[in-house]
Amino acid sequence: MIEKYIRKNDASDRRWSFIDGPITANNPMGVHHAWGRSYKDLWQRFHTMLGEKQRYQNGFDCQGLWIEVEVEKEHGFASKKDILDYGVDKFVEECKARVQRFAAIQTEQSIRLGYWMDWDNSYYTNSDENNYTIWGFLKTCHERGYVYKGHDVMPWCPRCATGLSEHEIVTEGYQEVTHESVYLKFPLVERPGESLLVWTTTPWTLPGNVAAAVHPDLTYLKVKQGGDVLYVSEGAAKTAINGEHEVLASMKGRDLVGLCYRGPFDELPVADGLEHTVIAWDEVSDAEGTGIVHIAPGCGKEDFQLSKQFDLRVIAPTDDEGIYLDGFGPLTGKSVSSDATRDEIFDSLSDKGLMYRTQRYLHRYPHCWRCGTELIFRLVDEWFISMDELRHQIADVTRQIRWIPEFGLARELDWLRNMDDWMISKKRYYGLALPIYDCPECGTFDVIGSEVELKERAVEGWDQFDGHSPHKPWIDAVKVKCLKCDTVVSRIPDVGNPWLDAGIVPYSTLNYRHDRAYWEQWFPAHFITEAFPGQFRNWFYSLLTMSTVLENRPPFLTVLGHAMVRDERGEEMHKSKGNAIWFEDAADNMGVDVMRWLFFRQNPAYNINFGYGPADEVRRAMFLTLWNTYAFFVTYASIDGWTPGSIKGEPAYSELDRWVLSELHLLVRNVTGALADFDAMTATKHVEAFIEDLSNWYVRRSRRRFWKSESDTDKLAAYATLYETLVTLSKLLAPFTPFLAEEMYQNLVRSFDTAAPESVHLTDWPAADGSRIDQALSDETRLVMRVASLGRAARAKAQLKVRQPVAELFVKLPTEMEEHALQRLAPQLLEELNVKELRIVRDETDFLRFDVKPNLKLLGQKYGRDVQEIAKALQSMSDEELSAVARAVAAAQIVKIAGKEVDPGELLVSGREKEGFASASDDGAVVIVSTEITPELRQEGLAREIVHRIQNLRKDAGFEIADRIRTYYAGDGDLRDVMRRFDEYVRQETLSVEVKEAQPPAGAHAETANVDGTEITLAVEKA
Ligand SMILES: [Zn+2]
Ligand SMILES: [Zn+2]
Repeated sequence: MIEKYIRKNDASDRRWSFIDGPITANNPMGVHHAWGRSYKDLWQRFHTMLGEKQRYQNGFDCQGLWIEVEVEKEHGFASKKDILDYGVDKFVEECKARVQRFAAIQTEQSIRLGYWMDWDNSYYTNSDENNYTIWGFLKTCHERGYVYKGHDVMPWCPRCATGLSEHEIVTEGYQEVTHESVYLKFPLVERPGESLLVWTTTPWTLPGNVAAAVHPDLTYLKVKQGGDVLYVSEGAAKTAINGEHEVLASMKGRDLVGLCYRGPFDELPVADGLEHTVIAWDEVSDAEGTGIVHIAPGCGKEDFQLSKQFDLRVIAPTDDEGIYLDGFGPLTGKSVSSDATRDEIFDSLSDKGLMYRTQRYLHRYPHCWRCGTELIFRLVDEWFISMDELRHQIADVTRQIRWIPEFGLARELDWLRNMDDWMISKKRYYGLALPIYDCPECGTFDVIGSEVELKERAVEGWDQFDGHSPHKPWIDAVKVKCLKCDTVVSRIPDVGNPWLDAGIVPYSTLNYRHDRAYWEQWFPAHFITEAFPGQFRNWFYSLLTMSTVLENRPPFLTVLGHAMVRDERGEEMHKSKGNAIWFEDAADNMGVDVMRWLFFRQNPAYNINFGYGPADEVRRAMFLTLWNTYAFFVTYASIDGWTPGSIKGEPAYSELDRWVLSELHLLVRNVTGALADFDAMTATKHVEAFIEDLSNWYVRRSRRRFWKSESDTDKLAAYATLYETLVTLSKLLAPFTPFLAEEMYQNLVRSFDTAAPESVHLTDWPAADGSRIDQALSDETRLVMRVASLGRAARAKAQLKVRQPVAELFVKLPTEMEEHALQRLAPQLLEELNVKELRIVRDETDFLRFDVKPNLKLLGQKYGRDVQEIAKALQSMSDEELSAVARAVAAAQIVKIAGKEVDPGELLVSGREKEGFASASDDGAVVIVSTEITPELRQEGLAREIVHRIQNLRKDAGFEIADRIRTYYAGDGDLRDVMRRFDEYVRQETLSVEVKEAQPPAGAHAETANVDGTEITLAVEKA
């Protein structure tokens, strides 16, 4: 069926272009993926039903460190050396195989979610086409002078042995950890016995120290403590200096600038000839530490910047796995991350008399988001795309896109304003081979833009490479000649940032390189949707950057971002916390239709509290309600042998039928509008409200029409109405809940009409028929429902059972128009509220005078002392003033009497209560029911109660709905009178051929109960 679905609109000349953000094919899909994938499916299905041609292409993200890390785990590799020993070729093949494995699993899972895509035509970001299209992009960047090799200090994972780009860290890298920090002394060369006091949380960087920075305008103190004289900022002195001390002098930071000091590791070969000086830096703060900052340009980003400004020596202590290089004496060969190394550094400081004290320090510190290792900062050569020129162009493109929620635009622009240059290189193995050829002789570099160009430029190794994917190690066999100096040059060993892989897909998957006409047909995408936290800096960013460079056009027109999946209580889901829900478990236990509905009804701007509790609520409130309505229809249609063929011409629709059909077409209009506007939440709210009204108003109020035995025109109209409603619902629901919709459709449509489309998913989207929308009728019925709900509340106040009829219903409405509407639909209201007569209260002045004024004492009791004042004020009013109050009450305006605000409704009705009335009010509508029950009314109530009990007995006995029965009763009081008086009513309602006063015969289904103080025995048996 998927095949037929994706071919449905092949002949259409209307296109709708969706581009899938590739899912990382590295693990099974989780429930957090299911949210975005549900959206993707929803809108593709909607546009399919609208008859638009689509591509239905799913994407898998297939290259990058995340996959390498998992394959390393499978083998128990601890470092890059293990990969080299194992063989890069075998390692890369295993990465590719892992991707294939999980792509297959994710495909199965997605199909289970009801996600219908052209699965055989999925794209993979490790494909040759994807990689070579990125080459073309990089070449364009190079031609415009954006690509450069940067010498910079970057965050670095010593386990993965690669740098991380800025956005990888900002997004998800920080964790709270405790480090052993150290306060130590830098002895001043010109002032024997005196030292700067400095503080660091990363002692491993001390062998890289070249300078100490002070803030020129901060005040510093010269402090004597024991045999030491220490310099420390005034603001930091209190926390930094432990124990008794004496302040000798104070000075500005600028007074310390230029002083020389002995470094903490001057004995190491790397420090040979190094002169340490005090420099001025405006970024120094004394909020923590000592107000004097240790500067190691090889170990910190800002330190590196300072080294350029002050011409400081740069000492880079570590190799790519965080091991001290040669020249670091006893530290050489040791890991900067180990506790033993740290202790060795502390011991060395103590031996040299430089240690002041250590202190455990809790702070947020960056970690590798892939493997969890603490990052270090390291001086490296990396490749960058300069953003100086691009930043504004990308922002212009970004503004042409519709961002949902709206704040997405501001977030993206904010990122574009603040981001650094894009670091595109990674020192890893499995990823895009960066096509950069950097000449070691003359220092120029080339970027190769395609496989064709590479072949042309190759001077050796092409045969070895030919037939392989453009990955390491094969691609590296190919060498080119430097265009400037003829040197044979190798590719740089780096692979690319994985967001290049995903950012290029609006080009690579639309055949940009080989068929521009095809590309133009599908570019830009009408729509993309992804979880937005992170994507502003990742996918959205790379899409925007690459498309700005290549075409200076938006790659998509609308983006819908959604927040994160949390557990029921709003906590993050974690395997370790035991609150994670696996996709399969969720699918088994709540069903995928319910899961999808949970996602659709959520406001995408906020995290969803996902779990079985919310799923049960939705199942009960919406799915069961719909299912019961559907089952009700199917049951009665089959009893009556009704088929859609029974509808001949225009059925004799009742007011209620016309109303629900009007609501149905309004629903179609509203859902269509909401989906066209990418607003799933609003669409689901409309559907939920309709299903509630359908069940609790239309079906409940029509029950009797289906129930009655003769198939008259009224009954046929009810069938036609409910049938049309359910069939339309099955189509409206098809993009939301594909399985439920299909089941309804197959049974309602296909079982009668084999010429109809084979599946609901091959039907067209229902059209709202404006001629069937009767807004006035919708509004009027809404009013009746509102008055009925107030009436039920009033009855509940008086503790009147639903089945007890009452004599009168008084209703006061704000407008005459509403009064007329209510009069017109009075039969529905009276039946609904089980009331004999409706009285519209119009002359509010009289109403107030007659009912409230004599009962002011009561009003006072009810509202307490304050209202006694109100009561007094009312009593002393002239008739004119009282009329004014009454008019305000009638218009439901806030009434102020004696300076107090009074609820107009309460005021109006309070007088009635003691005299056998109960009331409820809201928004200017007041409803009062009479509570006096005459003997006749009581008997009628009893008859209804007995009917209800007989119906329950029928159910308990397991009779079919259409079974005829014999009913027996026995009891005291006026039971016999009641049963005689209401004999016909009881027989009709319960399908009893006979109702007889007798003890239950053997074998009958019987019950004895106390009903309103009377012992009554009832029994039923099949006739
Ligand atoms: Zn790592
Ligand atoms: Zn050269």
